[in-house]
Amino acid sequence: MNRDGVRKSIWQEEIKSFPPAFNFETEYDVAIIGGGITGISTAYELQKRGKNCVVIEASNVGFGTTGGTTAHINNFLDTTYSEAIKKYGLEDAKLLFQSANEAIGIIEKNISDNHIDCDYEKKTGQLFALDNQQAKQLDDMVEGAEKVGCKMLPASDISYPFPFVKAVEIPGQAQFHPIKYITALCQSFLNAGGTIVENCFCKNHSEENEWIVISTSRGIIRAKKLVYATHIPPGISMLHFTNAPYRSYAIAFTLKDLNYPLEPGYDLMDPYHYYRVQEVNGETLLIAGGEDHKTGHSDDTGVCFTNLENYVRQYFDVDVVKYSWSSQYYEPADGLPYIGKMSGSSSVFTATGFRGNGMIFGTLASKIISELILTGNSKYARLFSPSRITPIAGFTEFVKENIAVATDFIKDKLFIEKISSLTEIAEGEGKVVKYEGDSYAIYKEKGGRLHLLKSTCPHAKCEVRWNSAEISWDCPCHGSRFSVNGKVLNTPSVTDLIKIREKDIE
Ligand SMILES: Cc1cc2nc3c(=O)[nH]c(=O)nc-3n(C[C@H](O)[C@H](O)[C@H](O)COP(=O)(O)OP(=O)(O)OC[C@H]3O[C@@H](n4cnc5c(N)ncnc54)[C@H](O)[C@@H]3O)c2cc1C
Repeated sequence: MNRDGVRKSIWQEEIKSFPPAFNFETEYDVAIIGGGITGISTAYELQKRGKNCVVIEASNVGFGTTGGTTAHINNFLDTTYSEAIKKYGLEDAKLLFQSANEAIGIIEKNISDNHIDCDYEKKTGQLFALDNQQAKQLDDMVEGAEKVGCKMLPASDISYPFPFVKAVEIPGQAQFHPIKYITALCQSFLNAGGTIVENCFCKNHSEENEWIVISTSRGIIRAKKLVYATHIPPGISMLHFTNAPYRSYAIAFTLKDLNYPLEPGYDLMDPYHYYRVQEVNGETLLIAGGEDHKTGHSDDTGVCFTNLENYVRQYFDVDVVKYSWSSQYYEPADGLPYIGKMSGSSSVFTATGFRGNGMIFGTLASKIISELILTGNSKYARLFSPSRITPIAGFTEFVKENIAVATDFIKDKLFIEKISSLTEIAEGEGKVVKYEGDSYAIYKEKGGRLHLLKSTCPHAKCEVRWNSAEISWDCPCHGSRFSVNGKVLNTPSVTDLIKIREKDIE
């Protein structure tokens, strides 16, 4: 299984490819773009309920963030219930809690209906404050949680070696192997008559009478409804200003003393660390995550791994680092995901802005979107509507800031390092440089082979940034990512970076 970065995630041991669907039909009830947890759960649900569906995946199932997640399944969310009550009122905060529980129920039902062996385990989450300020934050979280019915119980002990000042236990959490889960769902989807087309890139769509005409790298596909389960939809829409791309880092370690924490754990640092244990090929590993930052806003993404590793080594008896990887997620302007009908269309749906809760919201999307397609309504449609304009404090600033990143980075172009010769790039280095008046994204492989690209992201004309940890070019504005050959790794761009031949700039 390939992923959208060069580092191998812990889930990539699970290799599964589907029989190539060369003879796929050209007309479907629903076309779902994207083979992550959102796309596969939605396709499975719709096919089960009688719709003839096709999943169109640019690379392979699990290529996106679902292949780089850490797969905690939580009913307490990155947007705390206190925040939700303040922003939306108690009733909507309760609805949010209900939606998270319903998503866990859907995962459990999918596992039991399809006899899926995906290391699913019920867990009790441990949330701990490492100083007094975090303790106050924890008190606030507990107060909000109590109001919506989410149990957070005081704990005097935790399974982590951190010097905590306050902690709570949260029953009813879970964890699983996300790739084992979605590949098994894929199999059930195929068994029910669904079609999966991998290595098929969706370029755009148009609406023609009752049909959506989807232009893909393998030809035209027509469907009555279209779901962009691409983590962020392609093209340019308001959703690109109400969602900001972030990266998070994860490392899986073995421990010499075998003192693996029994339950998943979370501190309240900013950004916070998250921990859980997973067994791979009979070996127990501690997964630690954190060091989050806005995409393209770290000068050296390799340092994020060093910081995370050094932090973990202070407290755990680390033996070997077995896996280290990073991946991208989206922060929504008002703290809630956008799931449902895309603005301006009655037949196109999407789901984005999941923060670090995509196992929950990707699964919930399968319920909301299938209900909207099948019945025209869902009890969660209003709360998560992609067309909502949220009159909450901070919303306008967030949108303005997201528009400003675009202009800032265009300005930034003027400050890109100037070079006079390509020999100034060291082997193994990637740089955006100004060379004879134009700016280029240049990567020199070990051994000297150059990869030359124009550095302007085709999506909104921002300048890409080098991601040394995943060997990719990342756009700080809306999160499009490209390989060193310029190929799109992550939307919203559907166009590759322009390739330049060395002789063209000599
Ligand atoms: C390091 C990290 C840890 C996380 N940990 C957790 C966690 O513990 N618990 C949790 O709930 N959430 C977590 N999250 C968030 C969660 O993993 C994501 O929200 C979730 O995986 C997103 O799933 P998705 O299916 O929407 O998108 P993806 O998994 O990104 O899938 C989108 C798919 O669409 C395909 N695609 C995109 N564009 C096109 C196109 N034009 N044509 C065809 N195909 C296309 C891509 O190739 C990709 O396979 C974490 C995120 C990160 C970054």
